[in-house]
Amino acid sequence: MKIICIGRNYREHAKELNNPVPEVPVFFLKPETALLPKNHPFLYPEITNDLHFEVELVLRICKLGKYIEKKYAVNYYDSLGIGIDFTARDLQIQCKKQGLPWEIAKAFDHSAPVSNFIPIHQLNKEKGINFRLELNNQVVQIGNSSEMLFSFEEIIAYISRFITLKEGDLIFTGTPAGVGAVKIGDLLQAFIENESMLTLKVK
Ligand code: MG
Repeated sequence: MKIICIGRNYREHAKELNNPVPEVPVFFLKPETALLPKNHPFLYPEITNDLHFEVELVLRICKLGKYIEKKYAVNYYDSLGIGIDFTARDLQIQCKKQGLPWEIAKAFDHSAPVSNFIPIHQLNKEKGINFRLELNNQVVQIGNSSEMLFSFEEIIAYISRFITLKEGDLIFTGTPAGVGAVKIGDLLQAFIENESMLTLKVK
């Protein structure tokens, strides 16, 4: 399986990192080893001194597809979870300055912890799906899927022009404003609506 992450999908987040608002989705990949195995502690990675959280809704792909049209894309995902696109912001800034790819800042081991998944029919997509992240019991990021620059269906249609999607692939759909640094000892808790979905202690 693979993990595909959308960047700059919320206007206020693009602005907070001084990035232009994109005209087509921006995406990058993380390998399967970016997942955090169940019951495995999250350890602050030694590669960075500026680890940032980015809370994101995560789509689970449920069937094989290539060149998926937007109007059919709804049939290609069946459930939604929440994850953290951990980013070594110091390394990312260096990569950007040099015009280099971002993988060392984004694709490292355990950089993509993900919750369990909720069947999509149990959520009210039309109303927009609320999600948030708490850091040490304080809300730091709040989002609603209706604020995305590119919808779930537009993302799937775009990615599948380049890359075949397979059952079990995950798509991180972008982070709202409020990203920030974590340190050892911090507690992160991610919610979809009012359901606590993912809890991480940084060790
Ligand atoms: Mg992200």
